Amino acid sequence: METVTHFINGEKTRGDAERSQKVFNPATGAAEKEVILAAASDVDTAVAAAKAAFPEWSKTPPLRRARILDRFKMILWDRLDQLAALITAEHGKTFDDAQGEVTRGLEVVEFATGAPTFLKSDFSENVGTGVDSFNVRQALGVVAGITPFNFPAMVPMWMFPVAIVCGNTFVLKPSERDPSCALLIAEWLKEAGLPDGVFNVVQGDKVAVDAILANPDVKAVSFVGSTPIAQYIYTQGTANGKRVQALGGAKNHMVIMPDADMEGAANALMGAAYGSAGERCMAISVAVPVGEKTADALIETLVPKIKALKIGPGMDADSEMGPLVTGQHRDKVRSYIDAGVEEGAELVIDGRGFSVDKQGYENGFFVGASLFDKVTPDMSIYRDEIFGPVLSVVRSTSYQDAVDLIHGHPYANGTAIFTRDGDTARAFQQDIEVGMVGVNVPIPVPMAFHSFGGWKASIFGDHAMHGMEGVRFFTRIKTTTVRWPTGQRVDPEFKMPTLG
Ligand code: NAD
Repeated sequence: METVTHFINGEKTRGDAERSQKVFNPATGAAEKEVILAAASDVDTAVAAAKAAFPEWSKTPPLRRARILDRFKMILWDRLDQLAALITAEHGKTFDDAQGEVTRGLEVVEFATGAPTFLKSDFSENVGTGVDSFNVRQALGVVAGITPFNFPAMVPMWMFPVAIVCGNTFVLKPSERDPSCALLIAEWLKEAGLPDGVFNVVQGDKVAVDAILANPDVKAVSFVGSTPIAQYIYTQGTANGKRVQALGGAKNHMVIMPDADMEGAANALMGAAYGSAGERCMAISVAVPVGEKTADALIETLVPKIKALKIGPGMDADSEMGPLVTGQHRDKVRSYIDAGVEEGAELVIDGRGFSVDKQGYENGFFVGASLFDKVTPDMSIYRDEIFGPVLSVVRSTSYQDAVDLIHGHPYANGTAIFTRDGDTARAFQQDIEVGMVGVNVPIPVPMAFHSFGGWKASIFGDHAMHGMEGVRFFTRIKTTTVRWPTGQRVDPEFKMPTLG
């Protein structure tokens, strides 16, 4: 069985760990690899390597740092399918979805290659008589990324391209459920010319995370994962004096107005609810049709589409939805469907009994696409993030009722409205208290040169990911005020200096 190791100071290593964990192929249900789980000492070794690499890397001209990332970007383009296949093998999502994931991550690398431009500073001549002032953005030092299972390539790429191009050195702790992508990325970065120690990977679980949070040489932590862990990371990290951005979970609503193109809205919902088996933080898990007629039409349009959905192994070209990541997660999703039935929602389509009728995949971690109607806000299937292929329809009586519903939910990552009316769309965009909004766009994931982040319980900290928000997070400003003496021409002054 293949062992997935750490990558520290330019080398793969098993480190000091005495623990490991199985890594499954979700389509077959078989454990195909094992991943090393770091001891705290492995984290300290990686941080020490990153600290040793920092002085030289942070003084390397941004143009040269960007060129290394540019070479890495070309490697990614050339070998996109290799990374995508690795995602599918450990996460389960369909291969074309995995290709899309790599592309979205690659776009952040493209953004980062613009560092010489975005690191340019402000300079003010004559802030006072004969006095100039300028600010520069400097790297923080060693920074860490802690990432979730659902985008094992893209989410790390939200973080490290911006962090390292700004001059920081990086320690990544990927999800232990699909750990191999991080290792491949580390090898390709080295091949692109990245000096040893600038990018390190430590495999592990809570032990590794806690060692990152405790290490005083880690200056900032970038986290993406579930809300309880995001809150923990933020609380512990900031208490230890670190800068922290921690993105959490989601429950994204899509409002369907009576004037919406129903066919288009239903197609959009299919992809947004069931794509990647619902294991996306931007998945739509709640549909909110406005008015009974809209709701009935939505259910009627959705049902045949859900029944026709092709569910199967991610590497099969005709699969539209793959399995869930682990057997444990599959069981959790099934138990939410049980709870929805018990709580009185109407289960229109039940995916609990689904299995793939193809040799070798009978034990895969599949759940069929499921649809609940007449869900109410008190039900656990509405309140909790299920993170599976379960769509809840909450019928609303008016536009304002739909907005109030969204505002009543603690999560506020993404949302969308489907309408033909510009006035309604504009009001929604302006008033809704959610971080990322789509108008007739179901999954409004911002491009790399914008920034990704929710509001409320979907984020802890002040900065969203990538784009200029990422640059601000991974740098600190130094402002210098300069007066050059005019030598013999000026007498000494003893009063408090006032510029101007
Ligand atoms: P998770 O919170 O279980 O794990 C995320 C990371 O935290 C992993 O690296 C894991 O090893 C670590 N971790 C887990 N338990 C820990 C603990 N007790 N102490 C310290 N560290 C711990 O999340 P997941 O299941 O891997 O990913 C799915 C979650 O991530 C969903 O809630 C999803 O919404 C969220 N997510 C959010 C975004 C976003 O941008 N807001 C993006 C992707 C995923």
